[in-house]
Amino acid sequence: MSVLELAGRALAEESARFAGLGWMRGTSGNLSVVLGRDPLRVAVTVSGRDKGELTSDDVVLVGEDGLAVADQPHPDKVPSAEAGLHARIAAVSGAGAVIHVHALAPVVAAEHWPDGVELRDLEMLKGFGRAAHDDLVTIPVIANGQDMRVLGDAFEAGFRADTPAVIVARHGIYVWGDDLRHARHRLECLEWLLRFRVETRLVGEERGVR
Ligand SMILES: [Zn+2]
Repeated sequence: MSVLELAGRALAEESARFAGLGWMRGTSGNLSVVLGRDPLRVAVTVSGRDKGELTSDDVVLVGEDGLAVADQPHPDKVPSAEAGLHARIAAVSGAGAVIHVHALAPVVAAEHWPDGVELRDLEMLKGFGRAAHDDLVTIPVIANGQDMRVLGDAFEAGFRADTPAVIVARHGIYVWGDDLRHARHRLECLEWLLRFRVETRLVGEERGVR
């Protein structure tokens, strides 16, 4: 198996997990792993497939612009439209893998807190790489759009190395890590944290917490 096929197999396995969680409904969401740094080469899931049914072939290699590079077995495959943001996140953060899903909790949280979702004093923050106590974590929110350069600029403007996630309002969330498993663990914990924040919102308001 080629390096690209191995990446495709890993992306397919991860996608099936997220589809099972209901976070990649229809054909939504996409995953990527970095295969090269100079120049940047990112293996990303192809566009338009059911994310619960991907195979090791449903992967395409893109460059820093998110477009398929010529030097691969099937350069005619169409990468996800969001591949450009994956590449931008990988370039800026140094991450080895980026996950994008259309989970509901992050999008609802961004409706409530469009300037950023604050999290603190929750054990699950450890799974996101932060402290369980006295560590205010703000998950940035950027506006949705179809131009990945505009989204990339907005992401980069709010980027902090210790906060490996960004919510796209009325759309979904991106989370990244050293590899797919690392990114997945962060996403699973962050989804829990955001769901907690949404579901306890009224409790927080009663106590005067934003
Ligand atoms: Zn999306």
